[in-house]
Amino acid sequence: MRAMTVIPGQPHSAELTELPDPEPKEGELLVEPLYLGVCGTDREIVEGGHGEPPPGRERLVLGHELLGRVRDTGELVAGIVRRPDPVPCACCAQGEWDMCRNGKYTERGIKALDGYGAELVTLEADFAVPIPDELGTLGVLTEPSSVLAKAWEQIERISGRACSQHERVLVTGAGPIGLLAALMGAQRGLEVHVLDRGTEGVKPEAVNALGARYHSGEITDVSREVEPDVVLECTGVAELVAGAMQHTAPGAVVCLTGVAPSRTLSLDVGALNNELVLENDVVFGSVNANRRHFEQAVRSLREADPDWLRRLITRTVPLDRWPEALEKGDDDIKVVVQFSQR
Ligand code: BGC
Repeated sequence: MRAMTVIPGQPHSAELTELPDPEPKEGELLVEPLYLGVCGTDREIVEGGHGEPPPGRERLVLGHELLGRVRDTGELVAGIVRRPDPVPCACCAQGEWDMCRNGKYTERGIKALDGYGAELVTLEADFAVPIPDELGTLGVLTEPSSVLAKAWEQIERISGRACSQHERVLVTGAGPIGLLAALMGAQRGLEVHVLDRGTEGVKPEAVNALGARYHSGEITDVSREVEPDVVLECTGVAELVAGAMQHTAPGAVVCLTGVAPSRTLSLDVGALNNELVLENDVVFGSVNANRRHFEQAVRSLREADPDWLRRLITRTVPLDRWPEALEKGDDDIKVVVQFSQR
């Protein structure tokens, strides 16, 4: 079978590799991938900045956004990304591996475990998430949605400390993560604002179609105008991270979800501190997702307008040309690799 592989730490090593078919062990399903989403994490791995091969191996099978079909039953499934650490820590022991406390977790296609980017993969039944047939291809959005389902769950837990509900959310970045964050904000009945760079094209259109408002100015101006009480930062861009924490409403919850290369900025930490303290603001980071979040993601996707979700998949690349999926066009939102049935 053919697989999308890369040597972590070595740029330009991405290739289509011929590998033996995997043999399922007890408790594992054999899954034929149909579509696999690619994201910034995959790009970072391919550029040599992230990722770890399985022990004793040079190459890692890439891919963690799976929509596949179980070979025996024909059922559609998504695959959970993270596996609990072997110790396990208190969180992993309870199935909350997204909150792993010792960093010894592994991740399919990212950290020490092969991913789902192959013509045939094994998936532990406990880490398979059933996808309703009616979602079809759109089930490929389950993994990125799970990351936002987790972020929103955490935001809601944190907001429980205040006496009033949140009303206005500002999302920075109208990529797949930002748009799915906006979708879930709209599904919660919040007033949603989304900030990105462009002024026209699929991103503003997708935001408008949600009934949300699109902004393309400076984050400081947008925050002053909107006074968000929730900010979901979905880019990791240093200026936006710094901006996300400022000019929010009192009691704001700022959730950081982006990861980016190290970057130095000049920032008035005193003023920032005063705003956070004097307004009871919370800034926190959120990564990954556990089974509960994957299930919430499926519910959100089912409730969303399928035509709106379809807009998010802007490009489909066949497996034999998979490295093209990593190229980033200005109008790309989610790019997926398509597997043909053998
Ligand atoms: C994945 C997460 C993962 C994170 C860090 C993201 O792209 O969606 O599941 O935990 O990368 O490796």
